Amino acid sequence: MLDILLTEKQRQLRAEVEDFVRSVPRDLLLDMDADRVRYPRHYLQQAAERGLLGLRFPSAHAGRELGWAEEILALESIGVLGSSLACLYSLVSIVGEALAVFGTEAQKERFLRPMLEGKLAPAEALTEPRGGSDFFGTTTVAERAADGFRLTGQKRFIVGAEGADFFLVYAKTDPLAPARQSISAFLVERGPGVEVEHVYGLMGTRGGGTGRLIFRQVHVPEENLLGSLHGGSEVFHQMMIPERMTTAAGALGLARSALEIAVGYADRRMAFGQKIREFEGVSFKIAESLTRLDATAALVRATAQAIDAGDERGRLRRLVSESKKLSTETAWEVVNHAMQILGGIGYTDVYPIERILRDIRLMMIWTGTNEIMNLVIQHEYYRERGRRSPGGRDSEADATGSGLEAEKVYA
Ligand SMILES: Cc1cc2nc3c(=O)[nH]c(=O)nc-3n(C[C@H](O)[C@H](O)[C@H](O)COP(=O)(O)OP(=O)(O)OC[C@H]3O[C@@H](n4cnc5c(N)ncnc54)[C@H](O)[C@@H]3O)c2cc1C
Repeated sequence: MLDILLTEKQRQLRAEVEDFVRSVPRDLLLDMDADRVRYPRHYLQQAAERGLLGLRFPSAHAGRELGWAEEILALESIGVLGSSLACLYSLVSIVGEALAVFGTEAQKERFLRPMLEGKLAPAEALTEPRGGSDFFGTTTVAERAADGFRLTGQKRFIVGAEGADFFLVYAKTDPLAPARQSISAFLVERGPGVEVEHVYGLMGTRGGGTGRLIFRQVHVPEENLLGSLHGGSEVFHQMMIPERMTTAAGALGLARSALEIAVGYADRRMAFGQKIREFEGVSFKIAESLTRLDATAALVRATAQAIDAGDERGRLRRLVSESKKLSTETAWEVVNHAMQILGGIGYTDVYPIERILRDIRLMMIWTGTNEIMNLVIQHEYYRERGRRSPGGRDSEADATGSGLEAEKVYA
């Protein structure tokens, strides 16, 4: 869709990514879904061999210096592989963003480059057992110690808890300061004191080593502080761009693959002597799904372009949150339509719709729940409104009784 708007370079990139996506063995998807594979490290290595990891990062650190417009295209294709493989691919972009923007040259050499080369697998550890939405209420603590910090606490639902080589961890470094000035970001390597306490049995999105991590007095050297001391909130806000955009784009790809299966099925399956696509109840679901997917893709791509163009931070936060929310809700609806179109067989493992549905469900919860997206969207909009100079027409005055000030009661 909207292919006419793509540049030749973007078409080539998409063809390159699609070639990689086709090369991923079907057995890997099935083995991950059956929890026979706990963490597919070789998948990241293979993506790296093709130069497909961290597309946006500088070539000096093994990236390709492309923009968000390109990354979104790549992720729409990667999304077809399911939420677990798309997540592992995205973590390079998410952790890479923090490193590329806030990392020292030494940190980029030590973490960013090997990550893009497929030699180091990253994970991010934000969520705690006490809650993910209230990020700034984090209780993991990093205390000053000789040559660095001593990290104590736990993080929950961490993709790559089993399997990743290092973790981007947020911890309180100044517990008495206001919440947003109390947190720092650290690069924590797997080593003594970093323990996987529990690996979760998941509804979907399996095979990514999602577990609960415990940090028992872990020594973190000074040079592994990412960004400034107590400056974790800046790192967090920057990371939320790839965090949410990767989900937005991945969801579109996965939903589109479910729709394709349903469209093909409806054109072959017969009922009452005719193809089921000839029933309005079926064909309108297809029309509805296509329309919503295309409209959502337009928002996600426009947001990608706004990021590339350097729009102001507040508006980007709103657009990124709108993209994540709309995309995941659209995807959920599209996959449900697809399952309905397939009837009973859609609920079995003869078709992958049931796996896709299990995967998609998570996307309305992770990388910030859609309720949290709503909080951000309206909050940033009020702030934008406050900054905007009055320019357009005053529509409120276009009412017969607009002058009746005594009737305009607000309190
Ligand atoms: C499979 C999986 C993989 C994950 N991967 C990672 C990962 O790699 N790294 C990581 O750090 N985290 C990860 N997460 C965590 C995920 O991001 C969190 O689950 C999510 O942010 C919600 O946090 P919570 O589960 O603690 O729910 P809570 O924050 O407890 O929220 C519970 C409910 O309350 C609502 N709620 C909370 N506050 C408000 C509010 N102010 N207004 C309105 N509603 C509110 C929420 O929307 C939600 O419906 C993963 C989760 C899962 C399940």
